[in-house]
Amino acid sequence: TSPDPGIRPGDALGVLNRVFGYPSFREGQQEIIEHVVAGGDALVLMPTGGGKSLCYQIPALVREGVGVVVSPLIALMQDQVDALMALGVRAGFLNSTQHPEDRRLVEQAFLAGELDLLYLAPERLRLESTLSLLARGEVSIFAIDEAHCVAQWGHDFRPDYLALSVLEERWPKVPRVALTATATEATRQEIAARLGLREARHFVASFDRPNIQYRIVPKNEPRRQLLKLLRQEHPGDAGIVYCLSRASVEKIAEFLVQNGIPALPYHAGLDSRTRAENQARFLREDGLVMVATIAFGMGIDKPDVRFVAHLDLPKSVEGYYQETGRAGRDGLPSTAWLAYGLSDVVQQRKLIDTSEGDDAHRRRLGVHLDAMFALCETIECRRARLLDYFGQQATTCGNCDTCLNPPKSWDGTIAAQKLLSTVFRLQRERGQKFGAGQIIDILLGRRTPKVAQFGHDSLTVFGVGTELSEAEWRGVARQLIAQGLLGVEGDYGTFVLTEASGDVLGRRREVLLRREPEKPARPMSASGA
Ligand code: ADP
Repeated sequence: TSPDPGIRPGDALGVLNRVFGYPSFREGQQEIIEHVVAGGDALVLMPTGGGKSLCYQIPALVREGVGVVVSPLIALMQDQVDALMALGVRAGFLNSTQHPEDRRLVEQAFLAGELDLLYLAPERLRLESTLSLLARGEVSIFAIDEAHCVAQWGHDFRPDYLALSVLEERWPKVPRVALTATATEATRQEIAARLGLREARHFVASFDRPNIQYRIVPKNEPRRQLLKLLRQEHPGDAGIVYCLSRASVEKIAEFLVQNGIPALPYHAGLDSRTRAENQARFLREDGLVMVATIAFGMGIDKPDVRFVAHLDLPKSVEGYYQETGRAGRDGLPSTAWLAYGLSDVVQQRKLIDTSEGDDAHRRRLGVHLDAMFALCETIECRRARLLDYFGQQATTCGNCDTCLNPPKSWDGTIAAQKLLSTVFRLQRERGQKFGAGQIIDILLGRRTPKVAQFGHDSLTVFGVGTELSEAEWRGVARQLIAQGLLGVEGDYGTFVLTEASGDVLGRRREVLLRREPEKPARPMSASGA
């Protein structure tokens, strides 16, 4: 695509000042806008809150014609359009939730050139009627928001995005800008390939969010830990609590309300009206906590979200980064807090084993999960690990848990051998498989009814692990699974050996573990060690 001689790139700053009321561009914006205004394709990678919207809104206003924005965020289109109209920008949207008469009016305005921006749900582009509508009007640019939705192995894949290759085929002269906050090299290449953005210039902003304090803590008593975080560090603050299942969303929301913290649930199982209502209240009211599955949050522009708490492990570093990125868009100090435990490791491995799709798919899910494990178990700076994952350099940050309170590592080779040989003996000598509870009871030499029932007190490994506490053994098991040295199987998460277990048992491999921080103030359970 060649530069359009009719347009003066200098207009961009004027539009920024006059229409949006901002004095200056943020890092990266001006370059991107000038490139697109001049007719170039662009792939924009910028963290959440970085200011991606202006990167297509301003070119749409500066260039002749209507800027067409493809966005999966149907629930937010009305809000986005209202916000633009309030600034005097002529905007409209087309999606399936709309009244036919409203749709007709928007189509008319588009054809008459009376719109600056037209938001479209991706599924509309599968309709020939939409394509012919666009062909009859004048399109200034195509913006593809949340472009990572085209990545087939990503966490937000939307099949409708695959149809967007039609834009290049039918409108080769119209500049296209794809935008996302998901940044791995692999995702970037997949977006470029699937959207036919061969000539596009890539603009990659820094993904550091210095105002977010990253913390990943061992999960002991998640509810109590969450309550403590909210009461002691974030009283009265707005925040998001992510849970894996709809059931736990409901339970945690109720738990918070019972404890005097205003909280709302959000998940795909709620009817759309309740969802919309809860979302609107979260955006408009102060100090609400949204307890949600990952169905909540994409495109939510609430500047003062002070914390994002995860009670369950995200499936990938990309997902974690996106979700935590919803904190602190206003640049003020915010917390990203994740509680992570043995049960998460077992559960996530199980989810992968039972997931649909072929082996290659499961392997990919496994790779994503392993990267997340590595982030959780690192004894290095979390931010440095996170940025490294996105291919960016970072020095030690001073604003994450590992920087503020450096964890120690310890030689866990012998502990690992003890645990693995317990699993080995049970299987070899007794033909039995057990999960964490029984294995740890054996190591600690506890004569529980179940130990007696199976005669496990006669195993040679019975009571060989009293030097560690139950919590520490759970930490050992969790880290062995995370490192692939121990496997889990079946509905009950029974422990099995992996290929790599043999190296530990055969003393060919040392095991470095992260020291568990001090035990929680209150004992974990009554089954005292
Ligand atoms: P993203 O889509 O990258 O998550 P947005 O486009 O929603 O981010 O921008 C985040 C916030 O930053 C918005 O409230 C937006 O108005 C504001 N913003 C963007 N660019 C600028 C700028 N140049 N000056 C001041 N505020 C800006």
